[in-house]
Amino acid sequence: MTAQILDGKALAARVRAEVARDVLALNQKGVEVTLAVVLVGDDPASQVYVRNKVKACAETHIRSLEFRMPAETTQQELLAKIAELNADDAVDGILVQLPLPSQISSAAVIAAIDPAKDVDGFHTRNAGALMTGSQTLVPCTPMGVMRLIEDAGVNPAGKTAVVVGRSNIVGKPMAMLLLHAHATVTVAHSKTPDLASVTKNADILVAAVGRARLITADMVKEGAVVIDVGMNRDENGRLCGDVDFDSVKEKAGSITPVPGGVGPMTIAMLMCNTVLAAKHRRGLSL
Ligand code: NDP
Repeated sequence: MTAQILDGKALAARVRAEVARDVLALNQKGVEVTLAVVLVGDDPASQVYVRNKVKACAETHIRSLEFRMPAETTQQELLAKIAELNADDAVDGILVQLPLPSQISSAAVIAAIDPAKDVDGFHTRNAGALMTGSQTLVPCTPMGVMRLIEDAGVNPAGKTAVVVGRSNIVGKPMAMLLLHAHATVTVAHSKTPDLASVTKNADILVAAVGRARLITADMVKEGAVVIDVGMNRDENGRLCGDVDFDSVKEKAGSITPVPGGVGPMTIAMLMCNTVLAAKHRRGLSL
């Protein structure tokens, strides 16, 4: 059996079209939706991410404000910029591109962002709201994964889900969303002794590790939904995921490719969160 390929690029385009319609409707009510993107330093990957985010804003009629700060920016200078954006009533969402230069604490920066404008969903107030199942801004990558699973026609309720990776930005919120969707969730990580024995139980397997092709066919249950969050460079410098796509696609029921799977969904969900923040701040219906 060859797996159904879950086309994140196509789904992301559909989501962006929905967002664009939503934004135009807001514009007609006199509401402009604005995302502020802050990039510190000149990390090439971060520059690409920021470029793609700004491009997605243009496509969805969201106004983007780009702030590029030099690599030697101090934490105080960045916090001052965030305070300015928090206070600016025209700004609905604030995104500080990570990673930050070593002199700046990303935790301090995330904590400084107004939770109502925290479109990455990283603030502890939003993380706590996610944990307790309250309405909140949810991190974009796990939210994109949930849309992909839904679009594949899979209902997580009653299924066994395994998330490999426990970061605050992907693994933990991913596990929480699957739990809210009534899956039975296991979270594996670098201290999990026999990873294959855990992943083999998964009806839904999400790999968010950062190790090229860690997940091989022998670690996957026949017919599983396999979602590959990883973005790695292989030995030839080519972009690849955490899943050995070529072998796993012969065993899985459905699978996301890298590129063209989770990546585009992450950016589309950022657009959704920006609109959500804009509506919520203005007391408009969600
Ligand atoms: P982190 O490095 O923060 O977390 C990686 C997690 O994987 C950790 O929990 C770590 O365990 C675990 N891990 C590491 N090695 C192993 C192993 N051999 N077996 C099992 N678990 C292991 O990464 P992120 O969560 O930020 O990102 C994960 C991947 O997703 C990266 O490739 C990143 O580039 C990609 N990514 C992609 C996005 C997209 O839009 N497509 C967005 C965000 C990230 P421990 O906690 O024990 O150290």
